[in-house]
Amino acid sequence: MGEWIRDFTEGNMLQKDLLGGKGANLAEMTSLGLPVPPGFTITTEACRAFLTEGELPDGLLEELTEAIGRLEAAMGRGLGDRDDPLLVSVRSGAKFSMPGMMETVLNIGLNDRSVEGLARTSSSDRFALDCYRRLMQMYGSTVLGMDSDAFAAELDAAKSQAGVAADVDLDSDSLRGLLSAYERLTLEHSGTVFPQDPQAQLVAAVLAVFSSWNTERARLYRRRERIPEDLGTAVNVQVMVYGNRGTSSGSGVCFTRDPATGRRGVYGDYLENAQGEDVVSGIRNTIPLTELGAIDKPSYDELIEVMATLENHYRDLCDIEFTVEEGRLWILQTRVGKRTPEAAFRLAHAMAKEGMIDADEALRRVTGAQLALVMFPRFDPDSQRSLLTTGIGASPGAAVGRIALDSATAAAWAAEGESVILLRKETTPDDLPGMVAAHGVLTSRGGKTSHAAVVARGMGRTCVCGAEALEVDLAERHVLVRGGEVLAEGQVISIDGSTGEVFAGSVPVTDSVVVRHLEGADDIGAESGGDLVEAVGFVLDHADDVRRLGVRANADTADDAARARRFGAAGIGLCRTEHMFLGERRELVERLILAEGAAEQEAALARLLPLQRADFTEILEAMDGLPVTIRLIDPPLHEFLPDQTDLAVQVALEDDRGQEDLRNHQLLEAVRRLHEQNPMLGLRGVRLGIVVPGLFAMQTRAVVEAAADRLAAGGDPRPEIMIPLVATVNELALVRSGVESVVASVLEERGVHLAVPVGTMIEVPRAAVTAGQIAEAADFFSFGTNDLTQMTWGFSRDDVEAAFFSAYLEQGVFPVSPFESLDVEGVGSLVETAMRGGREAKPDLHAGVCGEHGGDPDSIHFFDQVGLDYVSCSPFRVPVARLESGRATLAHRSSQ
Ligand code: PEP
Ligand code: MG
Repeated sequence: MGEWIRDFTEGNMLQKDLLGGKGANLAEMTSLGLPVPPGFTITTEACRAFLTEGELPDGLLEELTEAIGRLEAAMGRGLGDRDDPLLVSVRSGAKFSMPGMMETVLNIGLNDRSVEGLARTSSSDRFALDCYRRLMQMYGSTVLGMDSDAFAAELDAAKSQAGVAADVDLDSDSLRGLLSAYERLTLEHSGTVFPQDPQAQLVAAVLAVFSSWNTERARLYRRRERIPEDLGTAVNVQVMVYGNRGTSSGSGVCFTRDPATGRRGVYGDYLENAQGEDVVSGIRNTIPLTELGAIDKPSYDELIEVMATLENHYRDLCDIEFTVEEGRLWILQTRVGKRTPEAAFRLAHAMAKEGMIDADEALRRVTGAQLALVMFPRFDPDSQRSLLTTGIGASPGAAVGRIALDSATAAAWAAEGESVILLRKETTPDDLPGMVAAHGVLTSRGGKTSHAAVVARGMGRTCVCGAEALEVDLAERHVLVRGGEVLAEGQVISIDGSTGEVFAGSVPVTDSVVVRHLEGADDIGAESGGDLVEAVGFVLDHADDVRRLGVRANADTADDAARARRFGAAGIGLCRTEHMFLGERRELVERLILAEGAAEQEAALARLLPLQRADFTEILEAMDGLPVTIRLIDPPLHEFLPDQTDLAVQVALEDDRGQEDLRNHQLLEAVRRLHEQNPMLGLRGVRLGIVVPGLFAMQTRAVVEAAADRLAAGGDPRPEIMIPLVATVNELALVRSGVESVVASVLEERGVHLAVPVGTMIEVPRAAVTAGQIAEAADFFSFGTNDLTQMTWGFSRDDVEAAFFSAYLEQGVFPVSPFESLDVEGVGSLVETAMRGGREAKPDLHAGVCGEHGGDPDSIHFFDQVGLDYVSCSPFRVPVARLESGRATLAHRSSQ
């Protein structure tokens, strides 16, 4: 074994770090006795040494010569020999496949003399010349960095001159002409001649692979995919075999099962008289693999056997590249195959049933992201579409409908049975009826935690936010698309909530059988996806068996609560109460704000009380027997008042016409008084609870009275009261004593006993840092990671995503928005600090998270690690959170 080079006979599939993915798999197949053309791998260590030193490490060239010598001896041919040349391919192969790196140079060893030898041994001038022109082309574009279009243009010119359509129809004379043209091109573009020395070709190709680790595209890809910069790539050098030696030869790709559906069968494509690159480039039409059985039965049968061997060995779907050279089968590459999300579930389930893998492994093989994709309606992948613009994919799914520019229009059209997309600059709580009625929501401002995004996710409504290229013109009732197009209200568009894409017209949609099943449908037959439903059920059940984290839902209506329960939620982790003050009740809030003196304030509160009580009764009933964390009102009061400019205009007009309205004057005065430059950092949350104590007291009373009503009805209510935006224990202690005295008096009035825990959100950095003190006054913590992210980064959550996150993502400032996936180093460190402080003060402190990160797969793994008790997320993400919590347990176990 050399220091820098390993023969394929020396390695195995576990050595991906050293040999790269491709090299490790080639070694593994060689040791399985499969027909792999001989070769060797130059290790990633050699690449790392080259990248640090700027030159090939000592001894590599000598080892390379020896390794080639071994190949020559084994094959009985010499590299570039003039009579019977050995030819090799050079391919890169990093641990992770990485677009942007140099990939392949074939036919190394050909030059002006050995091409004649190849022509004689293959009895085909045409074949030898074609191999040589492919080498020049690949060498030019990948080693010399020439533009591959220049070669393609020469090839096209040669074809049109010869009057043929396909490459294979070029005769020897045309190919000779093409070779001269390629030689000229190489000299012109690179200033060097194509090297005739085979050793020089080989070394240059190896150097080019090593250097391509640092291309701009490869670097960007690594930053985005969080692949470490210092891994380096391996280089595989392998004896060439040819699928383009006439009709008894060919190349193909195959899968051991269908990568689209996961079902059993023979899946693959074959192309006669072709090299591997021709199969993927689509220059000629391939035939289905099964037809190889009729053309060359022995090779086909052997391939089917190889497929079975590989699948049993890898215990997974394998993707295989092969070549048949004059009736002899060669396997060129295999790897665990990529698959669609639904195939991932079917494969995991089927392989577990077949005993190939255990249930833990089945759970490891699927992801929450894949589950999300099978849970939402999708656009038919084969359909035609015309892209208008791309915004931020804020709530997954696919929705088609007529554009409605305000909530009332959306609701009215939906009531007539129309499918509607509500398109707004941004949404406010006022848009709720329209959002409920619409199939999808599209905004031109805001990001993943904007009002539109959070509410749409909660309802399972498809949503795209921050599509900045759209300018809504309400006066003209149309939308301008940057670049000129105008969409009139009523026109049909389609939006993809996963990718953020907005399409003109109607794109066909496929519904999710998984959701239909979770919602209780029991009529899903095998053809329509019954096996997918079963597979998802199998994996979710196992996730439930192994997971430590509880999963609750963010829900603030009885309907959402009931759905969350059907989807497997063990309670509500966040019941926001602000939506309960909208619609017809808004006027009561206005009265509360305008009240002059305690009596008027109490009267307004007294009218709100029964309405709130009814809200809570319904929710507690839907979640009977399970905890319901009710958060007292959080947003600034002015959100419940009319828009300042609108109201000012109205008042001025009324005054002008002599129709002065006293109430509107008072209202305007209140709006002005409550206006804040920075409302997210203003009078909201616990601060409001301290300044307007009657509001928190009324809500607490409503909660406890609702619970008492449920007890009287024989129910098992488990309300918990949560205080938002706490920054110091003093705030919590103050509010808590008010809440506790209301709880005590209602329980006494009603003559019932009930424990009502009082806890706090941890969403202000100061609260995280002083969590030890805050825990003294809290029965539980719930991390509000939306606000915690906003305040830790100083990012306004409603503004920054659309404003500049695309620049940040493109330039690699972060790989993903911190509002989507928890910023573990920054915000995560505050969560960890708070957990440590809280649990030191109170070892059995119950803790969860209710920010949007509670439904994000990566973040869930982090929350599991730092010891939270549960995550809470929108009802539609509950199954995803169950699955990822199970996977987190397994990951945690294997890292210990
Ligand atoms: C949070 O801040 O994470 C949270 C859950 O509260 P809201 O999104 O309502 O501010
Ligand atoms: Mg918050």
